[in-house]
Amino acid sequence: INMNAGPSPLPDAALLTAAASLLSYPETPGMGIAEISHRSPAFDNVVVKANDDLRKLLEIPSNYRILWMQGGGLTQFAATALNLLAWYRIKNQLKPEDEVDAWYAVTGSWSKKAAEEGARVGVNAKKVFDGKKYGGGKFKGIPPASEWEIPQLEENGRKPAFVYYCDNETVDGIEFGGVGSETAFPFDKFDPEVPVAADMSSNFLSRPVDVSKYGIIYAGAQKNLGPAGVTLVIIREDLIVDLDEAVKYGGARVPSMLSYKNMADTNSMYNTPPTFTIYVCSLVLRSLLASPPLPLSSPDARPLSPLSDFADQKSSLIYAELDDGSGFYVGTADKAVRSRMNPTFRLKGGEELEKKFVKAASDKGIKGVNGHRSVGGIRTSIYNAVTLEQVKTLVAFMREFREQNQ
Ligand code: PLP
Repeated sequence: INMNAGPSPLPDAALLTAAASLLSYPETPGMGIAEISHRSPAFDNVVVKANDDLRKLLEIPSNYRILWMQGGGLTQFAATALNLLAWYRIKNQLKPEDEVDAWYAVTGSWSKKAAEEGARVGVNAKKVFDGKKYGGGKFKGIPPASEWEIPQLEENGRKPAFVYYCDNETVDGIEFGGVGSETAFPFDKFDPEVPVAADMSSNFLSRPVDVSKYGIIYAGAQKNLGPAGVTLVIIREDLIVDLDEAVKYGGARVPSMLSYKNMADTNSMYNTPPTFTIYVCSLVLRSLLASPPLPLSSPDARPLSPLSDFADQKSSLIYAELDDGSGFYVGTADKAVRSRMNPTFRLKGGEELEKKFVKAASDKGIKGVNGHRSVGGIRTSIYNAVTLEQVKTLVAFMREFREQNQ
């Protein structure tokens, strides 16, 4: 049972097909999928089909483009800021000396890093919410937006170029709209003209998303979608601008590989993309579309979202175990924002007992449950390819471990 936080398990059916296609791809007999040109009709079909499947799964509106980029989430921390900065400079015909604000909701380790990177590449990164301050030095929750520090626009008359947040904080186990939660991202607190950029790396394709509310959604593949090496960007068309034009308005000179326009104009073939990774992603997307619909009990579940209830079911089992009343396990995130993908917790007995827990789990074949090195504790990542049965096995192990060690 693989509970690593990413790269993480992928559906067997997709991997088996991928393995066979490495030796010989049906459309190019004798040549494997990793051995053909990215400009060949066979590979073009892979991308076209993957885009179609993703559009169906997430009901992506026609005025959004899908880009397959490289460099992981970390590169998108810079790319989202640089591209939206350019869009804003052109739209407002700014002068070089004009500064541009961007607003970041810092709810965990990844959005904190994104805000730092935004500042590095030239935006005035302002925190509209500071989770560390809220949690007394630790990321642990997100209060209602009425308690955030959203600036009054009248203060300086400037709208921010964008609002940024991370939908699921992988390290800290904090998710907007997490299990049993009413804390969805507060779109209504922000000017609808200001694009929202969201990092969905670790909860992508785990529930329906109203894409039309976003300017940009991006997700590194290596959790729910495929192997590491590719990052999906879903972007509203009108936000795609020529970065060189923005230089006239004080924009920076940006490496061409970071330009969403270059990627959009070339159907993500600006350079040689990671063809095999994209192919595996296409198989995972196909398997998601083919999987039988599960009970859709969440209020916003839509019929084309076979997984919408699955993550709730699985994570609820783990959280029920944390809340069994014994206090042996202690969840690290506030109940209102508990992640459906990365439940995180501590053992009341301390770090030595946590080490024993990780070792005992591993001895039972449950791998990768140690917390992120920056925070310690336990993290049980349960992405889409982790089955309900596997989660039940984990929970049975947790119960047994508690009985033996409390
Ligand atoms: N954002 C989130 C939510 C993540 O979980 C991660 C990595 O785990 C990243 C960004 C960084 O992604 P990468 O390592 O692909 O740059």
